[in-house]
Amino acid sequence: MPDRSDLEGQEYARLMIEAVQLRREYRMGESVVHALAGADLRIKPGEFVSITGASGSGKSTLMHLLGCLDRPSSGVLRFNGQSLSELTDRQLATVRNQHIGFVFQTFNLINRTSALDNVAVPMMYSRKSFTRAHVLRALDKVGLSHRAKHRPSEMSGGECQRVAIARAIVNNPKLILADEPTGNLDTRTGQQIMQVFHDLHAEGITVILVTHELDVAVQAKRIVQMRDGRIIDDSAVDATHRAEVLKITQDAHTKVFAAKTA
Ligand code: ADP
Ligand code: MG
Repeated sequence: MPDRSDLEGQEYARLMIEAVQLRREYRMGESVVHALAGADLRIKPGEFVSITGASGSGKSTLMHLLGCLDRPSSGVLRFNGQSLSELTDRQLATVRNQHIGFVFQTFNLINRTSALDNVAVPMMYSRKSFTRAHVLRALDKVGLSHRAKHRPSEMSGGECQRVAIARAIVNNPKLILADEPTGNLDTRTGQQIMQVFHDLHAEGITVILVTHELDVAVQAKRIVQMRDGRIIDDSAVDATHRAEVLKITQDAHTKVFAAKTA
């Protein structure tokens, strides 16, 4: 049994995510990669959390487990109090479809079809009836309803990522998981994408965001740091620290820009 002594019973019941000693191993022939080597994590509804760490530290592996895209080798993972290991693959897919939106670094859009059809994909899986107006509302939320008929190949990277976010929110999920969502974008476009996450968080959606950029990470209320498949730090971000980091990175960007244009 996990130790719950540090949490009030009520608060425990309110957790959206509870991971206890979560492990994920990959077998590569004779050897075993411990991608996740015993991670403990608790996330309450409405939080905005960044996950950082070097490449290979297990961030994506953790996100795939939290997003019900994969199953742990061992450990406990609860979503809204329900243990996910008890669910069949089909039930797990339903949890993912109804409650969780996933945003990837490389957008993962279908290139041969319109933005509107891309956003509609999760609705088709949910077997609920839906209208074009409903899908358009999701595109409108990310400021792209005027691009509904365009294909991803006709859009900029920032626009593609906004289409991907519209797809992630079309089923009104309670949780958004974003794995390096600004990794393929320039700083300014990346910040526009971050604003979309801020807006979703302000609406009450829980946001968990993987990034290795410090100026992106500090925009969350809490930073979880990973190394070698473990969580090595988990701290709240205070406003003063956030302002300092943003000022330093802003100054650095300004200097680089000035040097480039000089
Ligand atoms: P991060 O997202 O922090 O870069 P990952 O979670 O992708 O890290 O990977 C953690 C470790 O697990 C790395 O050593 C990586 O090579 C390994 N790994 C990830 N996915 C697989 C896989 N499908 N098969 C084998 N090894 C994997
Ligand atoms: Mg990764």
